[in-house]
Amino acid sequence: MPIKTNDPTKKSWISVDANSDFPIQNIPFGVFLTRDDIITIGTRIGNYAIDLGALHQLGYFDGIPLTDDIFLQDSLNDFISDGKKTWRLVRNRIGEIFEIGNTSLQQNEAHKKIVLFTMDEVEMQLPVLIGDYTDFYSSKEHATNVGTMFRDPSNALLPNWLHIPVGYHGRSSTIIPSGTPIHRPNGQTFPKGAETPVFGPSKLVDFELETAFITTDANVLGEPIPIDEAEDYIFGMVIFNDWSARDIQKWEYVPLGPFLAKNFASSISPWIVTLDALEPYRTKSPVQNPKPLPYLQQTGAKAFDINLEVDITPEAGEPTTVTKSNFKYMYWTMAQQLTHHTINGCKVNSGDMMGSGTISGPTPDSYGSMLELSWQGTKPVPLGNGETRKFIEDNDTVTLRGYCSKDGIRIGFGEVSTKLLPAITVK
Ligand code: MN
Repeated sequence: MPIKTNDPTKKSWISVDANSDFPIQNIPFGVFLTRDDIITIGTRIGNYAIDLGALHQLGYFDGIPLTDDIFLQDSLNDFISDGKKTWRLVRNRIGEIFEIGNTSLQQNEAHKKIVLFTMDEVEMQLPVLIGDYTDFYSSKEHATNVGTMFRDPSNALLPNWLHIPVGYHGRSSTIIPSGTPIHRPNGQTFPKGAETPVFGPSKLVDFELETAFITTDANVLGEPIPIDEAEDYIFGMVIFNDWSARDIQKWEYVPLGPFLAKNFASSISPWIVTLDALEPYRTKSPVQNPKPLPYLQQTGAKAFDINLEVDITPEAGEPTTVTKSNFKYMYWTMAQQLTHHTINGCKVNSGDMMGSGTISGPTPDSYGSMLELSWQGTKPVPLGNGETRKFIEDNDTVTLRGYCSKDGIRIGFGEVSTKLLPAITVK
């Protein structure tokens, strides 16, 4: 089925700024509270949130096999379960309804009043009920930087790294949407020179610049997903800040990996941009040498050219962009990650989320964490107001953005922005 709404010549009767992340070619999916405090599934064009529950009730999706309440829900999980064919039918139909020249909704003032909200009238929620969350470690530059800092520059990558998309099972209960502030975590650390561990607020709170993909029901228990089919089970992507407390991490992570250093908060951008919308931005991923095992060998362009950047905004001051990276630098692709995840028969459900791992580029101005940007605190990062940062300080706001741009069309994710509040006092 053609993805008609991706047509770059298409224009909407809703006016869209040239630098907007949300032209009619995007049609992302999210969940929001309306001005009447009703929760609904919606999409966005320009600066307007569109209530898909209301559109469906008014008959605009007639002819598409959808249950009556599919959009009147507080998560996208059931819609995602409907599968790729339905996602395409719905995106194409939304593209038709809002295309310039189609007056059915445009000239129906009563319907428009029910369906359209300006973005300042809605409150974005988590788009999916995330059952399981996995985080990978798939940027070679990031893994090399971390290995160089913590182990041995000449053996920066561990022996398994070039053969396995390394990952760990994270925690979904603390995944939060953009705009939700968090507290600096308390925990155990073992500072240099100390003789026993100490308890208190983490001193090394960091962001991780990542993307994440959301899956549909992909397999039954015991059945792996072949690499050539993996992308069919990926609904879309979000921008993801995997908050990390480096000092807690360093003391706790041997031998089982990250635990409390990572599960105090992970922030996501609220609009899921579909893989279909990202189709025009496919590009080749880095050459894999050595060649992966046959079950991980893929054909075609499986990477996406997504520009990524991070701002730090101090309490008193303007935002400073501290890094610019790109999703295309990822060594392991999403298809390889999902295939590897299920090769042992692990079951993947609708609404599961899988993080890319910190996405660092090849140059020091493209690193995806403060750990790397400040090289463990040895190179303070300058901010526009004259201050510097080695890690994130109290009352800093960290904002991640992502967008694709080609042939005059920009498809973006908006942002994920989170303020770090001081630690809560533990008695
Ligand atoms: Mn991570």
